[in-house]
Amino acid sequence: MKRIIILGALLAAGAVCTALGARQQPAGQGGPGQPQTPSASALQVDKIRDNLFVLRGGGGNTAVFITANGVVLVDTKTAGWGKPIIERVRELTDKPITTIINTHTHYDHVEGNVEFPAAVEVIAHENAAKLMPEMRPVTGIQTPGRNVFKENNGRGLPKRTFRDRLTLGSGPDQIELYYFGRAHTSGDAFVVFPFARALHTGDAFPNKGVPIMDANNGGSGVEYPDTLAKVAALPNIDVVITGHNATTVTMADVKEYSEFNRAFVEAVRAAKAAGRTVDDVANSWKVPERFTGYAQPQAARLRSNAQVIWDELK
Ligand SMILES: [Zn+2]
Repeated sequence: MKRIIILGALLAAGAVCTALGARQQPAGQGGPGQPQTPSASALQVDKIRDNLFVLRGGGGNTAVFITANGVVLVDTKTAGWGKPIIERVRELTDKPITTIINTHTHYDHVEGNVEFPAAVEVIAHENAAKLMPEMRPVTGIQTPGRNVFKENNGRGLPKRTFRDRLTLGSGPDQIELYYFGRAHTSGDAFVVFPFARALHTGDAFPNKGVPIMDANNGGSGVEYPDTLAKVAALPNIDVVITGHNATTVTMADVKEYSEFNRAFVEAVRAAKAAGRTVDDVANSWKVPERFTGYAQPQAARLRSNAQVIWDELK
């Protein structure tokens, strides 16, 4: 009996650790992250081009794109990291931050929005713009359960949206926003910097691991590989910034990631057709050998995603 109680306590402690880990490093990023106090020095600055940088740490990867007239940011990390982002940008340029593009609704990509001047234009896909005021829980992970937009009377919410495609600027300053359908959420934007031949995927491609299929925010497991296949077909891109990876990757990796997700969707489809269960999939699925360098998936993530796909296959 005593043993059972101790085991229960350990399990409870583990659940809390998992929740804290999720708070610090959510969205499919292969394991709990270390708690980080927001500060500019905690943000790693990676130069991609003379006018394109990535700020890593504090949540999703933030792109900094310096144009003739000002700075465009892609994603703003978790609450408290907006000011450190501003400090780091100040080290790169004197130009004002004019625009924030949010790749999707998740807190670790949007909460920092509220820390920027109200004049900064916030742009997102129309579905993300509908979801952001709600800050719904994320399917399959512990979420902070706060709504920074409500706390700040709607400050930092997108006022400009797009449906299929949106062009910003021209020449070296041009940015193309694309929407290719549901995947991680129902509002995943893909941001292309044509002159830099660079792409920011957001969390539709978080890293080489099993993604979050966030049905609660409109995400789709069944459509996930097809959406990524469309991304992989974008021309003239040499460098890819993902949602959370520590380094940039290539379009070959995006294509492989589409195939990785297709392999999982097909495994779930086959299991369902064979009369097996979601738990069978969660307890047995392994990364196929042809996908090298992929994180071993956690059963909980597999179960959550298998359930999402299962429900869509009804
Ligand atoms: Zn996400």
